Amino acid sequence: MAHPNDPAAPAAPAPERQATFKSAVSTSGIALHTGNRVKLTLKPAVAGSGIRFRRTDLPGSPEIQAHVRNVTDTRRGTTIQENGAAVHTVEHLLAAMNALGLDNAVVEMAGAEPPVGDGSAQLFVDLIREAGIVEQDVPREFITLDRPYWYSQGETHVVALPDSVFRISCTVKYNATILDTQYLSLVLDEKSFIEQLQLARTFCLFHEIEYLIKNNLIRGGSLDNAVVIKGDAILSKDGLRYPDEFVRHKMLDMAGDFFLLGKRLKAHLIGIKPGHPANVELARRIAGLVA
Ligand SMILES: [Zn+2]
Repeated sequence: MAHPNDPAAPAAPAPERQATFKSAVSTSGIALHTGNRVKLTLKPAVAGSGIRFRRTDLPGSPEIQAHVRNVTDTRRGTTIQENGAAVHTVEHLLAAMNALGLDNAVVEMAGAEPPVGDGSAQLFVDLIREAGIVEQDVPREFITLDRPYWYSQGETHVVALPDSVFRISCTVKYNATILDTQYLSLVLDEKSFIEQLQLARTFCLFHEIEYLIKNNLIRGGSLDNAVVIKGDAILSKDGLRYPDEFVRHKMLDMAGDFFLLGKRLKAHLIGIKPGHPANVELARRIAGLVA
């Protein structure tokens, strides 16, 4: 790579532009928590409009802006709600859109939750690539930090430090399981997301499943779309996709949850045993919604 002061270095790159889908594409599949089959369509949207979900199964097809101010539940996935309508488990689709460079899109859903796919972001990456991406004639805006932000709750700590890129560093550890402490740090972009995060699947601890079933949260769940950790065993259809698949999935979730800021974040996110509640609390602080 050329040094910035090298006289032969290329001129500074043109400012990044906003982007949307080139064409509309659809898919359908089972939703994790409701267990219902749902159709999802990705559509282009005008510059400056951000990511909007549209519930085509409800009267008037109400829209829900993908913004942290609209988050109403973070118990398993991240739920957003606006105009009397909710969409659940938006984080994997948002993570793929964040990494692949979408700024503006309409996500039509004939149901309350996107298809789960295999519990990773692969379904959405494939769908976004099928739709194609086109640049728009408007500069991309970023959120940058002038000071650190943080949120702590018990053993969970999430921190956002000023940085010139979107960097995620994450550590997870689950007591009473065979899992060693897992740690990974990367600069999030399309390449790192595709190579290191997109295949990491949703996981849960066996003792959590009873709670989830009682609360009707995983009616579409199976070993087709999640990994279950039971004491010293890992229940999975095809083993683990990465030795440290769990920390990678936590980072995938962070890439999605922090895209709810509505613009790309340039910051170093540090997650120690992070989860949706802490991610969203920190995003609320960055957005100035809470002190
Ligand atoms: Zn997830």
